[in-house]
Amino acid sequence: MRKIKFIISFLFVIFASLQLMEAEAATVENNFYGITDVQHDWKEYSTDINVFQTDSHDVTYWKNFMRYSRTCTISHEVKTIVYYCELHDHTKSETFLEDITHSVNHSH
Ligand SMILES: [Zn+2]
Ligand SMILES: [Zn+2]
Repeated sequence: MRKIKFIISFLFVIFASLQLMEAEAATVENNFYGITDVQHDWKEYSTDINVFQTDSHDVTYWKNFMRYSRTCTISHEVKTIVYYCELHDHTKSETFLEDITHSVNHSH
């Protein structure tokens, strides 16, 4: 009876250590995709240009000895490039501020 108990506990230890090895293998796999110096095959997938109206301010100017006021809106042109990596089937995106435009042509 004692021997059977010993065998069962022995088997349990083996079983437990096997599970542990599996868990370790899973961690290694996760790290493979998580580490930054892994080689990627980034290819430009799509390019988007969006214009956001970010701010507005009042502009005063003089014309024919009269003082005028206009509201100038400031727009940010933002370019978004989406890259796709075929090796790991994932994407990344980069955004660039392309241009800042004022609706009223004025000196700053
Ligand atoms: Zn990748
Ligand atoms: Zn302006």
